[in-house]
Amino acid sequence: MPLLMDTHAHLDAPEYAGGKLEEAIASAKNAGIEKIISVGCNEVTSFKNIELSKAYKGYIYATYGFHPHNAEEFDAERHVAQICECVKDPGVVAIGEIGLDYYRELSPRAAQKKVFLTQLGIARELDYPAVIHIRDAFDDFREFTSGFDFKGVIHCYSGNAEFAKWAVDKGLYISFTASITYPLKTLYKSAEKTKRPVGEILRDKSLPDAVPRAMLDIFAAVPAARIMLETDCPYMAPQNLRGRLNEPANVSAVAEVISAVKDIEYGEFCRITGENALGFFRKMA
Ligand SMILES: [Zn+2]
Ligand SMILES: [Zn+2]
Repeated sequence: MPLLMDTHAHLDAPEYAGGKLEEAIASAKNAGIEKIISVGCNEVTSFKNIELSKAYKGYIYATYGFHPHNAEEFDAERHVAQICECVKDPGVVAIGEIGLDYYRELSPRAAQKKVFLTQLGIARELDYPAVIHIRDAFDDFREFTSGFDFKGVIHCYSGNAEFAKWAVDKGLYISFTASITYPLKTLYKSAEKTKRPVGEILRDKSLPDAVPRAMLDIFAAVPAARIMLETDCPYMAPQNLRGRLNEPANVSAVAEVISAVKDIEYGEFCRITGENALGFFRKMA
């Protein structure tokens, strides 16, 4: 049984209203997804996910944290105590998602920095894993976190190979979504035409022809022992399902592509990344 997990979903999202959440969970179970982590972005969504972790005990886990987009909602007086209280809950496995997002820059950078470092400080103090979101802010992230260590996973990785190498050296994990399938449009088209799985075609092909060099460099920089898999659903549906509602079952598309590129047997790759997740989010083990 491959130990396939979706380590980053947003099952609290309004997109799953009207019975779609129950459908997504049923199809995840059907697809053999072992566990799902549903990630909070502010107070309301964190509590919704904690409720889900209680309703689906042992299957769905939650995190508590303020996303950089919501940095201005963070009220240190209220929320520092709330994080410390919430992480005592058996279903809360990490602090997150926290980080820096200069791409959309929905909050001022100074506020993002302050709220990120406050929450990372709590994670370090409690020796808790942190789920980290970084977009177009890799240099600042490196600068702000130089000089100390922490348990972190950089989710929905969008950086380059050089940063990935730095992150691995720092002891961090890297988590990939189906955004890695977007540069493989041609491959997905030929999979559709030939009715062959993308992973199978990829294993037959000369990689530099099928996969952009920059992507190959990233996968070469990150050993399987540091990779985790996620969907970030309801966003980021795989290339062949783009525009549709994404769901945890689709994490298999991420495993299919990376295992083929790294030339690791699919089931073995799922097992390695699943064990990475159990070791990292240790309350889930
Ligand atoms: Zn994110
Ligand atoms: Zn997310």
